[in-house]
Amino acid sequence: MDFINYDNFLETEESPGLTNQIMYHNITHDDMLNGDGLRVVLWVAGCEHHCEGCHNPCTWDPNGGAPFTEWEEAEFWEWLDKSWTQGATFSGGDPLHPANRDYVGKMMKRIKETRPGKDIWCYTGYELIVDEGEFKLQNAKGEAFTYPALKYIDVLVDGRFDIKVRAADIAAKKKVIWRGSSNQRLIDVQTSLKEGKIIVKEEN
Ligand code: SF4
Repeated sequence: MDFINYDNFLETEESPGLTNQIMYHNITHDDMLNGDGLRVVLWVAGCEHHCEGCHNPCTWDPNGGAPFTEWEEAEFWEWLDKSWTQGATFSGGDPLHPANRDYVGKMMKRIKETRPGKDIWCYTGYELIVDEGEFKLQNAKGEAFTYPALKYIDVLVDGRFDIKVRAADIAAKKKVIWRGSSNQRLIDVQTSLKEGKIIVKEEN
C-alpha cells in the first residue's frame, strides 16, 4: 500500500490539509470523553471494521457525512488553539481507514510542527502490532500496513469494539476508561516507539 512521505510532503505544500479530501461527521470541542483533558475531536467518515454493537454505524461509509472543507478545518484549528484545549483527538469512523489515513497524517504532522504543546490521541479499529521490529496496523483479516504518521501520535486507542467483552466488563464492574471494551488498548505510542514494543498507558 502506498503512503505519502510525510517528511517531504509539507515542504512542498503551502497550505497542508486545506483541501477537500475526506468526509467527516462532526467536530466536537471541550470534549472530555475522548482522551485526557479538554479536547477538540474530529469525527471522520469511513470504517471497514463493522464491529457488532458499534454505536456509530452511520460513520462506516467513507462517502457519508459531509465534505471536510477548509471551513471545517479552520474550525478545527481554531478550537485546538484555545488555551484550554489540551490536544486533538481523531475518531470516527476510523481515522486510519484508507480514505482518511494520509489526510489525517498530514494534520497530525502539522499539529506537532506548529503546536508542539498539544497532544494527539487517535482511535482506530486496527490493532497495533510489532512485526519483525516494525510497527504495523492490522485488520481482522490479518492484513497489515505501516503508518508513517504513527510517530506523531501520543495515545493510540486500538482494536475493534467487542460487545461480548463489553458485557463482561459491565458484569465485572471493570473500570474501562476512554474506550468501549477492555480489549481495546490505550497505547503510549511515543514510549512504544522508543522501546520497540507496545507499551500500554496506565489508566488514572
Ligand atoms: S471501529 Fe469503531 S466506528 Fe468502526 S465499527 Fe468498530 S466501533 Fe464502529
